[in-house]
Amino acid sequence: MNYEAFYRQSVDDPDTFWSREAQRIDWHRAFDTVCDHARPPFARWFVGGETNLCHNAVDRWAQRQGDTPALIAITTETPDGTPAEKTWTFAELQRETERTAAIMRSLGVGRGDRVLIYMPMIAEAVFAMLACARIGAIHSVVFGGFAANSLATRIEDAQPALIMSADAGSRGGKAIPYKPLLDEAIGLSAHKPGHVLLVNRHLAEMNLVAGRDVDYATLREQHLDAQVPVTWLRSDETSYILYTSGTTGKPKGVQRDVGGYAVALASSMEHIFCGRPGDTYFSTSDIGWVVGHSYIVYGPLIAGMATILYEGTPLRPDASIWWQIVEKHKVARMFSAPTAVRVLKKQPPELMKRHDLSSLKALYLAGEPLDENTSAWVADALGVPIIDNYWQTETGWPILSVARGIDDKPTRLGSPGVPMPGYRVKILGEATGTVCGANEKGVVVIEGPLPPGCLQTVWGNDERFVSAYWSNFSTEQVYSTFDWGIRDDDGYYFILGRTDDVINVAGHRLGTREIEESISSHDNVSEVAVVGVEDKIKGQVAVAFVIPRHADRVATPEAKQQLEKEIFAVVDRQLGAVARPSRVHCVNLLPKTRSGKLLRRSIQALCEGRDPGDLTTIEDPASLVQIREALQS
Ligand code: AMP
Repeated sequence: MNYEAFYRQSVDDPDTFWSREAQRIDWHRAFDTVCDHARPPFARWFVGGETNLCHNAVDRWAQRQGDTPALIAITTETPDGTPAEKTWTFAELQRETERTAAIMRSLGVGRGDRVLIYMPMIAEAVFAMLACARIGAIHSVVFGGFAANSLATRIEDAQPALIMSADAGSRGGKAIPYKPLLDEAIGLSAHKPGHVLLVNRHLAEMNLVAGRDVDYATLREQHLDAQVPVTWLRSDETSYILYTSGTTGKPKGVQRDVGGYAVALASSMEHIFCGRPGDTYFSTSDIGWVVGHSYIVYGPLIAGMATILYEGTPLRPDASIWWQIVEKHKVARMFSAPTAVRVLKKQPPELMKRHDLSSLKALYLAGEPLDENTSAWVADALGVPIIDNYWQTETGWPILSVARGIDDKPTRLGSPGVPMPGYRVKILGEATGTVCGANEKGVVVIEGPLPPGCLQTVWGNDERFVSAYWSNFSTEQVYSTFDWGIRDDDGYYFILGRTDDVINVAGHRLGTREIEESISSHDNVSEVAVVGVEDKIKGQVAVAFVIPRHADRVATPEAKQQLEKEIFAVVDRQLGAVARPSRVHCVNLLPKTRSGKLLRRSIQALCEGRDPGDLTTIEDPASLVQIREALQS
């Protein structure tokens, strides 16, 4: 079957299509209904079925190929950057997951309880996710680069019974203590977890809070022989929550199911990532992001592959480290982000050439627009197909790509590709809500029901799910991706950036409103606007414009610099260094409409040297002059 026929069946006869795909996983109880869409936009997949993600990722393979590698944890966060690694076979991974599951149970965690995982890229983080899946607890992984306030909002929203963390992460060989941030976050949150389970890597001092904090290694010893059978879950039970930024300052908890997600991953691993049991797969993302959930942990394991968990930067001990890993572990499929490739492109090409990369079949890139230059460079350097794929935290797996497991439909430079199975993608005019013609720019939307694996709702807030994602057009109820796009004459889509206030820094999705809220907490900030500005390496960087409360305190360039430094520190402490703006400019006025709405798009345009656009509604044109002057200084 070629792509066209395959895709057509997925949207014209979804019941047949997804019933077949569902056979890629084990079901404890067969489902009665493929999709229940009686209450749009909510969709329930594989209703009546019972399954378990951990069973499909681990136990199933432990039974069939128990001695083959499942998890290969590699760290270059060693004193001199020399890689250290440890491998778990599927059988060993099952044992370790059962131990962690037993520890969680002993701390009172049960089905439906939330477990917040705030961990560096170490194997215990994977055990924790799988253990939750095993016992039906709902995990909420928070990226280790986030700091106290970001963490506190997530604790408060998810209300975890347990938080699992570690003494520290590490970056470039330098320990980054997690425990003080975690303690501060728990202090800030109205909800307090029953327990905090801590992995001690002996990288930083840890003060344990009596009665609340417990040591992972000690409890593990007590549960070495634990056997914890999987808990069979209803297909539409919740597997996890993953927070992501949106238009407001409050992150949204993307809520995912069990059965639909397992099927979507099994299906995409087959058709898009061409996963073969026993092959090795390497994604350079982080478990704190959706790529880490879908294509470091669950996807490759569900496909019976060995997955590499990598802690470290792409440049330490030197810029050949990823290629060393590919050579040593005979990596077949690799997944990374355009930013990482742009960083590597600046390094001497011999570093790549010196390794035998013949095992590698394809490189998958996602998370941000892939520019033609970067794509062409890496295709040439590696000599393998570069597969761009476009998706979001919300969808859990690619919306657009080319499905190399189906046919060899050519890729097109600058385009992530064509719709993947089950996604009924359209481009609508922002103002009109009508379908755009070929090559006409509009908003990328998806018709309901969304395919399996996509978000069920916003955690604890069905109303927000409907109002944020499904109510953007008066013409019809469709899911908005909040991305601009066009479709060319041949059906290839091109993504042209976000329609909302979300920015994408080095593949990390950040809300400008969250950064603004954090900056506003500095006592010399009266107003602030944060915009995303094009950057050669990171895709975008955040740039802040602040109106100081006391202008006299920032009268000199040195005082302005001091304020910038202080603002960096505030953002680092509250949100984490990932959210730190690249520059802070002082102004007396910000461009706004007469109704007081910040004209972020105009500010962004000025920062990128473009025309600020239609300014008929601007309150005070002098504000634009100020932005220009600030940029020049
Ligand atoms: P996240 O939820 O963090 O995965 O971010 C999703 C957003 O990243 C999308 O809405 C897009 O704006 C952007 N994005 C992800 N993948 C791509 C891609 N392949 N090409 C262009 N933009 C992308």
